[in-house]
Amino acid sequence: MSEASELAARARGGVTGARGPEDIHAVARLPGEWQRLFAEIGEREYRAGQVFRAIHGRGVLDPAEMTDLPAALRTRLAKSGFTPPATVAEVHRSADGTRKLVLELAGGARVECVLIPMTKSGADEVDADVGAAVEDEGDEPESAGDEPKQRVTLCVSTQFGCAMGCVFCASGQAGLVRGLGAAEIVAQVLIARRYLEANEYLRNLVFMGMGEPLHHYEETARAIRLLGHKDGLNMGPRRITVSTVGLPPGIRRLGEDFDGKVGLAVSLHAPDDETRGRIVPMNRRYPLAELLDALRRYPLPKRRRMTIEYTLIEGVNNSVGHTRALVQTLRGLRVKVNLIPMNSITASDLGASPKARVEAFRGELTRAGLSCFLRTRRGDDVSAACGQLALSSELVRERRRPT
Ligand code: SAH
Repeated sequence: MSEASELAARARGGVTGARGPEDIHAVARLPGEWQRLFAEIGEREYRAGQVFRAIHGRGVLDPAEMTDLPAALRTRLAKSGFTPPATVAEVHRSADGTRKLVLELAGGARVECVLIPMTKSGADEVDADVGAAVEDEGDEPESAGDEPKQRVTLCVSTQFGCAMGCVFCASGQAGLVRGLGAAEIVAQVLIARRYLEANEYLRNLVFMGMGEPLHHYEETARAIRLLGHKDGLNMGPRRITVSTVGLPPGIRRLGEDFDGKVGLAVSLHAPDDETRGRIVPMNRRYPLAELLDALRRYPLPKRRRMTIEYTLIEGVNNSVGHTRALVQTLRGLRVKVNLIPMNSITASDLGASPKARVEAFRGELTRAGLSCFLRTRRGDDVSAACGQLALSSELVRERRRPT
């Protein structure tokens, strides 16, 4: 047991086993939890805020570097088991400006996150996903010189591997190894921020990397709370989009817990149960009627829309019939459609829809009055494109969580 756990257990009259703030990773503790912990172990209360701000405001992940704290407290924090949740193992830069970071977690597992500068056209992936929705927030930072700052979106992973098994996605081919703790999710953001250029700023966050965020709800929700805290990154839920395979129970909880403010992207990929069941196995557990019902009830704020992701796979879901059926399926929902040409993965023979078919598909949706964006391929020269974040053998160092 760590020193903090011991002290806290003693302060609670020797009751061990109950989950208290000392059992939560330091980077995942909310300000109130730091306060409770410090009260229990006899540290001054104002220090709680100081530590939270150091981590989530300044991005300091090692207590030894919190030089504004007394040396004794720094040592105490280090002894209590506060170590950086992740360190940078590799950085890959794509010719298009996308940066993929490979982070090493405690125990040796490696996860990836991707920084994506927004293109000027405004019609690419994440502008389409979240840009329109946050246009009116009025929180643009000061411009650097004459040029306004360049917006960057960060794509983070929530699990190591994935249990959903979508047939066209590399992430799930080896199944789920483990979910990431909120500390590991937030650390991706705090570390990736260091790789922004001087003229860039982190505008949006998408939970679209490896894993299914709603299959791992508690840690995902805690990460959203930490990221949105005003004493930390202050990245409110409106600047965050959670991408889900479509788990109705998770969608309902997310809607309730954050009043519908967290952006929602749903990996629909097909307009009918028959087609969807073939490529998204989860559809057999939660058929379209149930998923669409959860989407209809999601308490989206006025003027916001959810994103429907549709990966176009040749000969599977890209026919004229599919387009027409999709228009029917989406009737009555406040959505924009994000078409993604399938990126090839080694584990599957499925392939991308030809360009002309993609354009025809898009044209038909647009004519039916749906707003529709084509997700441009970003970072595929560094294997950072959608569905390419895999558990490649070099990413799997150790399959078990350290104890
Ligand atoms: N579990 C989440 C996040 C997955 S990755 C979800 O299902 O939404 C983000 C998006 O990329 C999803 O829409 C996913 O279906 C899509 N995707 C996965 N593999 C892909 C591939 N090979 N080509 C194109 N898109 C892919």
